Amino acid sequence: MNRREAVSALGVLALGESIGAVSQPAPEIVIRGGRIVNADGSRMADVRISGERIVALGEALSISSGTRVIEARGKLVIPGGIDPHTHLQGSFVDDLTTGTAAALAGGITTVGTFAYPEQGESPVDAMKRWVDEVERSAIGDVFFHASVWPPSVGSPTTMSELAALGQPSHKIFMTRSDYDENQAAVVELVEAARDAGVVTLMHCEDSALLSAAVRQLRADGRSSLEHYAESRPEVAEVAATARATALCELTGAPMHFVHLSSERALDAARSKRTEHLPLTIETRPLYLYFTEEWLRGPEGPLYIGQPPLRSAANVASMWQGLADGRIDFLATDHAPWTREQKLDPKLDIERLRPGVSDLRFMRPVLYSEGVRRGRLSVERFVEVTATAAAKTFGLYPERGVIEKGAFADVVIFDPGLERIASAEDDPSRSDYTPFEGWAITGWPVTTLRRGDVVYDNGRVIGDPGSGKPAFRHPRLDKLPIERQAR
Ligand SMILES: [Zn+2]
Repeated sequence: MNRREAVSALGVLALGESIGAVSQPAPEIVIRGGRIVNADGSRMADVRISGERIVALGEALSISSGTRVIEARGKLVIPGGIDPHTHLQGSFVDDLTTGTAAALAGGITTVGTFAYPEQGESPVDAMKRWVDEVERSAIGDVFFHASVWPPSVGSPTTMSELAALGQPSHKIFMTRSDYDENQAAVVELVEAARDAGVVTLMHCEDSALLSAAVRQLRADGRSSLEHYAESRPEVAEVAATARATALCELTGAPMHFVHLSSERALDAARSKRTEHLPLTIETRPLYLYFTEEWLRGPEGPLYIGQPPLRSAANVASMWQGLADGRIDFLATDHAPWTREQKLDPKLDIERLRPGVSDLRFMRPVLYSEGVRRGRLSVERFVEVTATAAAKTFGLYPERGVIEKGAFADVVIFDPGLERIASAEDDPSRSDYTPFEGWAITGWPVTTLRRGDVVYDNGRVIGDPGSGKPAFRHPRLDKLPIERQAR
C-alpha cells in the first residue's frame, strides 16, 4: 500500500467531501480561490502543488482531469508554521508523534526540538539517532538543536559535523550550575559554531543570581511554588541577556535568544549599539497573554514556565517588540505535562515541572488576539510564526513562504471560524491548556505537509513516520571581523 492509499484507508473520502476535492487521489493539487499571505504581502491566487513542492501560483490556474481541487474561497492560504522550540522527548508527555500531531492541528508543519545525548553518547551520535527517529515516528517534519555540554565534550570538528548533518544549531543553558566555571570554554565553542555556520541558542537566566534568590527564599521559609516568580527574578534574565549579547558582539557568531520575557532583557539585547549583531530573539505565548498574578492560587503551577510570568508592563513590551521587530518571532517552548504532574504537591521552587503544551493553540490564539485586535498585521502574523524562524534556522526559502519551488507546507486558515479552545481537541498528551475556554476566532482547517493533507477539519490524518527530518543550510552571516568587539 503506498502512502496515498494509506491515507484513503484512513478516510480520505470523508475528507474529500469536506473540502470539495475529487474523490480519486491525484498527483497534483490546486488550492483555489484563497488569499495567499506571505510575510511581504498578500494576494488572491491559486496554488498548484505537484508532489512535495509548489509549482505555480496564479489566478484561475487550469485544472486537468487528474487534479485534486481544494476550495479555499474566503480563507487565508498561509505557509506552514515553523516552531523552532519544542520539547518532544525525555520526561515530557509528548513524543515526535503526538507533538507533531498537535503542531499540524495548529497549522505548524515543521518543529525544532532537541537532540540530547544519553550518558556517554557524543553530541553528533545523539544527533544522528534523533534524525533517524523522525522517519519512525514523526508526522510533521522535525529538526534538532544539538546539546554540547560541558563545552569541552565538543571536539574541534563537532560543529562542522553538525552542519554536515544539516542540523546547524546548538543550545546553551546559562541556568546550568556549572555555567560560570565553563564560561571560557563557552566562548571557544561559540567561535567554533560561528566558523561552521552553526547558530547558538541561549537560555538567558543567570545561574548564580537564580541560586541566590532561591537560597534567600529557602532561608525565609518561602520555598513553595507560590513564590516561584520571586525565585527567578527579572534581574537574572537581564544580566544573562546582557552577557550573551556581549558574547555575540565579541565573537560575531549568529546567536538566538530563546523565550525572552521582560522589557529590560529585551533592552539589554536590542539597542542602537547592538542592531548590527547577527542576533535573533523569540518570545513565547505565555508572556503575551498572562501576568504573574496567574501564578497565585491553587491552579497557579499550571502556568509555570522558565522564566516566570511577569508584570503587565512586560506583557505590553512583548507585544510591542513582536509588532515592531525587536522580537523576531514567537515560539511555543512546548513543554507538555499533565495537570496532575503540574499540580503535584511535592513540587517547590527547586523541584518543579516548567512549561506548558502550546503547539495546537499558538497560531489560532495569536491570530485572534493579535491580528483581530489590530496588534499585528496578517503579514506580520505569518512572519512571526513561520518566515522569520525559517530564515533564522536555515530553512528558507524551501519553507516559511508560499512560493514556486518551496515545499508545499500550506495551511488553509479560516479567519472567521470561532471555536472555544479546549485541551480535548489537542492531540498533545497534555490534558490541559492555559487557553481552556477562550473564544478564539481564526483556525487552521486544513494542513498540507509537503503536499499531503495531514490535518483536516479537526482530525490529524497523517501517519506516524511520514514526517521527515528538515535539513537546513548553515548560517554564514557572521559579523565581519572588523565589526567584532576585539
Ligand atoms: Zn525550552
